[in-house]
Parts: sequence; structure tokens; C-alpha cells
Amino acid sequence: MDNRDKKPGAEKKLGAEKEAGTREKILVIDDSAVQTEHLYSILKDDYEVVRCQTAQEGLRAAKDGNFSLILLDVIMPDMDGFMLLQELKATELTRHVPVILLTSLADIQYEERGLLLGAVDYVAKPFSPVIIRARVNTHVQLYHYQMEFREQAMVDGLTGVANRRRYEDVSRNKWEDAMRFGLPLSICMFDIDKFKLYNDTFGHPAGDQVIISVAKSVSAHFQRATDLFARYGGEEFVAMFMGSAGKPAFEFMKTVRQAVEDLHIPHNSPVCKWVTISAGGVTFVPKAGDSYDTFLKLADTMLYDAKRLGRNRVVWMGENGAQWREKD
Ligand code: GH3
Ligand code: MG
Ligand code: MG
Repeated sequence: MDNRDKKPGAEKKLGAEKEAGTREKILVIDDSAVQTEHLYSILKDDYEVVRCQTAQEGLRAAKDGNFSLILLDVIMPDMDGFMLLQELKATELTRHVPVILLTSLADIQYEERGLLLGAVDYVAKPFSPVIIRARVNTHVQLYHYQMEFREQAMVDGLTGVANRRRYEDVSRNKWEDAMRFGLPLSICMFDIDKFKLYNDTFGHPAGDQVIISVAKSVSAHFQRATDLFARYGGEEFVAMFMGSAGKPAFEFMKTVRQAVEDLHIPHNSPVCKWVTISAGGVTFVPKAGDSYDTFLKLADTMLYDAKRLGRNRVVWMGENGAQWREKD
């Protein structure tokens, strides 16, 4: 599916996180060169303005670019603005980008139609530079708030890794991708060992720091675009990754587990010297009729085995039901 060197969840740069010096991009789509030039001259000092004169060209640009706003003419020869708006709202990449419609039609029914199709605002030609700037600034700002909010809703507040909601969202897509491409998919559940005891000894705030350190260490191993790593709840994490057969997945998870042990965070309990994790997972090629929940449950059973067999170890079920146990 997606390219492998892009960080998951980083598809879209948020306004608030834009690097200093980079400018917001605005797309202007209008068949009249006079109008696009006019809008360009109004906005060019504050924004990077991309101009398109056909709906097709505009659609392509919208899908390629990381725009914070689109100014769209309603009446164009090849495809009218309403159709283009519909297309933009139906496309995942462009769905959330605010669209302001430009028109010389003073008819209320056009305004209504545009707003019903998802435009955020409407400006009538001839343009007032002051009004254009004010509306554009407002909607770019609102767009950033919205993006920030969406991002926060998917990120775990303590660790900054994906939260369970995001995991539930993305895991189903990954399952379907793996099924479509016939690729092996691995699901792994992790749990910090004897963590209740850690909290009892060092206190809850220190426990929180451990959760952060463990999340940081483990997530560093899941940086491919097709990887998914999330805090599942409490001191439990889950990972999903694609393309590795069962045995290499098991070996890989052993290094992930070892990396946490190598942090050498003192646990100082009779049962564990350092903070450690147990991991249980499963690798399979999903087929039609298989249930995702069955595999998630299997991963959980493997985790249970890892705990039962002494903790700080990985237990894995590969294709054909073979089971591998670390330290056996
Ligand atoms: P096991 O090795 O069997 O996993 O033992 P455990 O003590 O880790 O397991 P148990 O499920 O009994 O306890 C989990 C503990 O994790 C209890 C809970 O207080 C702690 N915990 C869960 N979420 C958080 C959190 O956000 N912060 C802190 N500090 N502790 C948490
Ligand atoms: Mg637990
Ligand atoms: Mg635990």
C-alpha cells in the first residue's frame, strides 16, 4: 500500500506544526485568468497561491497539494464548480479542506446548494480584497483548529503514540489490505510486567514515566508507513505490521522486547530486576471469511502464555498454528 518511509499518522502536516518559514497553500480554481490573477494579487503576500483554470486541473492539484483552503468558481466550462465540490468532498485526501465558492450569481439557491454540498463560505464577484482576505484568514485558521482537534482525538495523551480509537480505525483497513494483497499480517499485544507492583513501589507518576519510556522504545521499531503501534489501554500496547512471515516476525519482536529490558529501568522487585514487557502475537494471511477478532484474541492468548511461562518473553503463533516460545 503506502510508501514505506513515511511515518504513519504524519500524512498531513498540521497548521500549528508547520515549520517556520513555510507558507500556507491556497488553491484558486477559476476559468477566468483575470479572476485568478486578481485573487493571486490579493493573497500572494500572505499565502502561496496555486492557480488553475479548469476543474480537472484543479482537482488534480487539490489531490497532490497540501492545501489549507480552496477558492472555487461555480461556473466553469468543463465541469461546474458544484460537481467539482462534490468530487472534492467525496475524496479522502481533499474532504477536509475548506472550500469557498466564488460566484457572480446573486441567486440564493446557488448559495444554498453550495453550502449544502459542503462549501464553508461564499463570496460574490466583484471581489473586495478586504473581504477576501478576512474570509480566507478565518477559514484557514478554523481549518487548523479542526485538524489539531482531529489529530488530538487519535493520539494518546500520555505517550503521544496512536490511541485505541485510531488503532480500531486503521487496523480494519490493514486487515483488508493484507487480504487484498495476500500478505502476511502480524498482530502483537504487549503488556508491562508486574506493573501494579511498580506503581506500588515507586508511585503512579513514576509509573507514568515508565509507560512513556516503554512506548518510546517500542514505537521506534514501528516506523514504516504500513506499521501501526498504539496504546491499547493502561500498560498495554498493540502493534500491527505487514509483510513478514511468522518466524521473522517472532525474531523481530524478540529484539523489540530486549530493547525495553535494555533500558535498565530499575524495578527492584523480587520478580523483576528491570522493567520488562511480555509480548504475544500471531502472523497469518487473512482470507475471506476469517474474523479479525479471532486473530486479535489469539494474540491475547499468546500474551497470556508469555505471562504464564514467566514474563519478559515473546510467544508467537505463526502460519499453520506453529507456536514459538522465547526462552523455552
Ligand atoms: P502482569 O505482569 O501480569 O501484567 O502484572 P501487572 O501488575 O502489570 O498487571 P495488572 O493488570 O494486575 O496491573 C496493571 C497495572 O497497571 C495496574 C494499574 O494501576 C497500572 N496502570 C494502568 N494504567 C496506568 C497508567 O496510565 N499509569 C500508571 N502509572 N499505571 C497504570
Ligand atoms: Mg495488564
Ligand atoms: Mg502488566
